[in-house]
Amino acid sequence: MSQLTKWDRRYLALAKEVSTWSKDPSTQVGAVTVGHKKEVLSQGFNGFPRGILDSQARYNERQTKYKFVVHAEMNAIYNATYSGVSLDGATLYVYGLPICSECAKGIIQVGIKKVVIEKCKEINNWNESVKISEEMFSEAGVEMIIEDLYQLSLKTKNQ
Ligand SMILES: [Zn+2]
Repeated sequence: MSQLTKWDRRYLALAKEVSTWSKDPSTQVGAVTVGHKKEVLSQGFNGFPRGILDSQARYNERQTKYKFVVHAEMNAIYNATYSGVSLDGATLYVYGLPICSECAKGIIQVGIKKVVIEKCKEINNWNESVKISEEMFSEAGVEMIIEDLYQLSLKTKNQ
């Protein structure tokens, strides 16, 4: 049985849509923050900072890309800051990749209380950074839900 409500699924679908806005040819991640009244507070996708040329050449050069890129989760946080919106008590929806430990720190510090991630292939190979995120979320009291929407839709079809 899914822990997700209809609204959770809608916001995961929105995060998936936002992920397609990324110009990174190999990885597209989308993040959406939502407030108590189910209102969208901000969105973000993985990309370079404003004013930094996001050329395919830079994306193709891995070391350059890793140094320049802002993760989707942090962009959602920065975009909220840009508009002066508090994320205290907000829920974060992420599509595309598990949350790294750097983003986890930002998520905790801005007061996000719940994180909903759609299960992706990389989530099966939990690396060290993701394990640290999980540990920090549990210690800081951030609820984390990993939802397998693909499995869910299969189950629904078979019923
Ligand atoms: Zn990250």
